[in-house]
Amino acid sequence: MTEFKELGLNDDILKGIKDLGYKEPFPIQEAVIPVLLAGRDVVGQAHTGSGKTAAFALAMLQKIKPRNGIQGLIMAPTRELAMQITEEIKKFGKYTKIRVVTVYGGQGMGIQLDALDRGVEIVVATPGRLIDHLKRGSIELRDITHIVLDEADTMLDMGFIEDISFILDLAPEDRVMSLYSATMPTEILRLSEEYLNNPKQFLLSADDLSGDGIDQSFLVIKDRDKFKYLIDFIKPIKRQCIVFCSTKYRTRDVAKFLHQEKFNAVAIEGDMSQHRREQTMGKFRSGKADILVATDVASRGIDVPTVELVINYDVPNQELLYFHRIGRTARAGAKGKAITFVSYSSVGDWNIIKRQIKVPLEDLNQKMGIQISIPDPLKRQMPSRRYGGQSRSNYSRGGRSGGYGRSHRDGDSRDDRGGGRKRYSDRGGKNSYGGRSRW
Ligand code: ADP
Ligand code: MG
Repeated sequence: MTEFKELGLNDDILKGIKDLGYKEPFPIQEAVIPVLLAGRDVVGQAHTGSGKTAAFALAMLQKIKPRNGIQGLIMAPTRELAMQITEEIKKFGKYTKIRVVTVYGGQGMGIQLDALDRGVEIVVATPGRLIDHLKRGSIELRDITHIVLDEADTMLDMGFIEDISFILDLAPEDRVMSLYSATMPTEILRLSEEYLNNPKQFLLSADDLSGDGIDQSFLVIKDRDKFKYLIDFIKPIKRQCIVFCSTKYRTRDVAKFLHQEKFNAVAIEGDMSQHRREQTMGKFRSGKADILVATDVASRGIDVPTVELVINYDVPNQELLYFHRIGRTARAGAKGKAITFVSYSSVGDWNIIKRQIKVPLEDLNQKMGIQISIPDPLKRQMPSRRYGGQSRSNYSRGGRSGGYGRSHRDGDSRDDRGGGRKRYSDRGGKNSYGGRSRW
């Protein structure tokens, strides 16, 4: 058994790890930490819930010097994930003198400017707000020595890439940079070569995305029957559950319905005020709420170890998102369950995802004896739409017909990026961050 100590971590950091009760490093940590400490770039692909945060955070904490300016930069796609990473780093770094701040849209600039004035060594940021700070000069990247892109495949994807490349251009070339995600399409990997210097790559095989410990099943039903089945599946749950919906409207509707049925549910979607988003996540993380109803804003990175069930109330719009969504359960080697509701119009989309699931998948129609009667035109399978063959916009934007989200999604833009350009622009009116988000 390898110990954290053998990875070359110093005593202050080891004390922080010990306080958290971590006994031994997880495989990705054992693999990545020595490489980062030696100063080499890394691509770290590892399953959801396998401890990627500590892999980059521990090495960064060790390499950064207190009171020496901003040396570490971590970027993540959503505000909630950025805040979570900051909290983790604070725990790991409890006995170091390293200070960390989260820079994200939706929070008043003042709080962030005050923290920056007091001095920080690590910035965890969503790209849009970071760019605002860079433009006004409240953050400078000239002393940066370590950069991390968490959920890197989405950070290098169309919605973010211009922001990321703007930011990286401002950072010194001589830096240690690393990328992490549970999914790493070859195309994104190729693109990453532009930013990395001879990285050591830790990759999963394409067959290995499904994740251990998640008991996966699906049920093909009429859309109007979903509520009823949702209740049936949620009732026996003893701990916590996340219900993913394809749009903000669906998210609100499902949450409203659950409230009517007296469930203790909270909702999160990108049009909510930042205050409500934080309130929701606070309630869910602390266990004050049992059910989180969410758009894909919560599909990546969020770590709530007590989640035992993920329900895909709607089939995800993009196939890799399926693996991220279900990965909100079975964290750190625990067990979990994932159930996907497939409406008749989403059967084609679901078949595309299903082909990528390489573990046994339970057919609940069979098990529960529920008949499907899909009108013929809808039964037709959609053509396969993989990210390799066509333009990059296909990878990033979904681009399927069927299912729910499409018409809404097309009008949406992200609020956790804020580059303010043509297609995804979210800077309407006075408040740059109050705009509509993609999720
Ligand atoms: P990932 O980013 O790979 O999805 P996280 O970094 O969010 O995973 O970690 C998942 C969970 O595992 C977190 O709750 C974290 O505290 C826990 N964890 C990480 N490393 C260890 C370890 N070495 N021992 C025990 N638990 C760990
Ligand atoms: Mg993570």
